[in-house]
Amino acid sequence: CGIVGYVGGQSALDVVIAGLRRLEYRGYDSAGVAVLADGGLAAAKKEGKLSNLEKELVERPLSSGQTGIGHTRWATHGAPNDANAHPHLDNSGRVAVVHNGIIENFAALRTELAERGHELSSQTDTEVTAHLLAECYSASGDLAEAMRQVCRRLDGAFTLVAVSADDPDVVVGARRNSPLVVGVGDGENFLASDVAAFIAHTREAIELGQDQVVELRRDAVQVTDFDGVPADVRTYHVDWDASA
Ligand code: GLU
Repeated sequence: CGIVGYVGGQSALDVVIAGLRRLEYRGYDSAGVAVLADGGLAAAKKEGKLSNLEKELVERPLSSGQTGIGHTRWATHGAPNDANAHPHLDNSGRVAVVHNGIIENFAALRTELAERGHELSSQTDTEVTAHLLAECYSASGDLAEAMRQVCRRLDGAFTLVAVSADDPDVVVGARRNSPLVVGVGDGENFLASDVAAFIAHTREAIELGQDQVVELRRDAVQVTDFDGVPADVRTYHVDWDASA
């Protein structure tokens, strides 16, 4: 339902939680975050309000890194509970994905992944993307290229945002039939399903086009189509009232 990604010099956890807070108006049934820190990936997710997640983060703090992603979920496949909340991780626990939309061919992909020995731990349509991304990433060593390969296998509507502990300075995103916007900062960049999530930090934005993948670093934004062909990007200024 709501998606936020961050890479920069601030605490990713703080930026992501504040961003999710700005997206609360959309309604949701659970929330979660993943941050990259100390060479690893740490995630927390909780059914219910963002305040439930924040309570969890007080009880079990995550190490604070400068790259992270977050999600508020509106369940379509699988009950609203902690296990089905996003982010979803692959079996190594080093790749995390958040998703808006519906992966229509998830059942076939689940079967295929199970046959290759993957253990899926949720009832969501989303989880297959984390496992596929981890497989493609370990083959190519390039997270954006892995995301393109995964997207070419998906049917349906999706905004996907992902991180890997093995490439801690990068956040990747992709979209088809579901929105994704880049917030361009100074030494930091943002990804969100809605500009409201990052408007407190920057008003320079890039709207991702249909079937595009973005690779985000602190000081670089690279956009391609699903085949890796570089896309023209146009930055625009968001000039609506942030307090609205
Ligand atoms: N289909 C996914 C799920 O049920 C994502 C739902 C959403 O857009 O929040 O987990």
